[in-house]
Amino acid sequence: MRVIRASKIGFPCIRNIWLSTMGLEETFDKKTLRIFDLGNLVEQVAVKWLREDGWDVYWNEGSQDAEWELNVPLQGGELRGHPDCIIEKDGQRILADIKSMNSRAYKHWLDGGTIDNKLSYFIQVNVYAYAINRQTSTGPHVDKVAIVGVNKDTSDYTIEVLDIDEEIIKETLNKAQFILNAPTMPPKIGWAFNHLGVSNEVPSWCCSYCSYKRLGICDGVKKGDENND
Ligand code: SF4
Repeated sequence: MRVIRASKIGFPCIRNIWLSTMGLEETFDKKTLRIFDLGNLVEQVAVKWLREDGWDVYWNEGSQDAEWELNVPLQGGELRGHPDCIIEKDGQRILADIKSMNSRAYKHWLDGGTIDNKLSYFIQVNVYAYAINRQTSTGPHVDKVAIVGVNKDTSDYTIEVLDIDEEIIKETLNKAQFILNAPTMPPKIGWAFNHLGVSNEVPSWCCSYCSYKRLGICDGVKKGDENND
């Protein structure tokens, strides 16, 4: 079965996501893998801090090996992922993902907010919220979504709580469906979220981080060639 990770579907470039669903593993250098390891440790301390600050936390410990996995079946495959936690206070249940950042990324995130500056995070938590709330009207549900941002340089942390965005969910499911059913490599385009003013252009930073460019599978986007192979 073809699978798109919830942490991946928010990446702007649909070609990149399509390549990963075809089993072409992305490669990461040693330093990037160490950054991932550090992120897992930061998650552990962030849960401790949240509890100290009065939040009830259901923590889905274990990152990619965590016990609780969510899935959204689609034609031709599914969206799948492990949410970090559900946090609860004052009767509100919030699906939260913990993100560790360096000082520069933390400031950028705080200045613009998750929707403007980290849209992929917002997409990820909305997919989780959808997967939880679709299961049953009487079972577990979440009221909101949140990003818990941790500055790993200073140990500051901030929670941005956001409304669930039905339009983001609808368009993300359309995007996933399109990728799962694309018979050949799609063009170098993104996915528009018109209600947020997000166009279908692939930002150039995507190619800088893309394994498929390093592997020579795609030459990346040059200005004006977003729709070309
Ligand atoms: S190099 Fe750029 S355009 Fe090509 S798959 Fe990667 S992100 Fe997409």
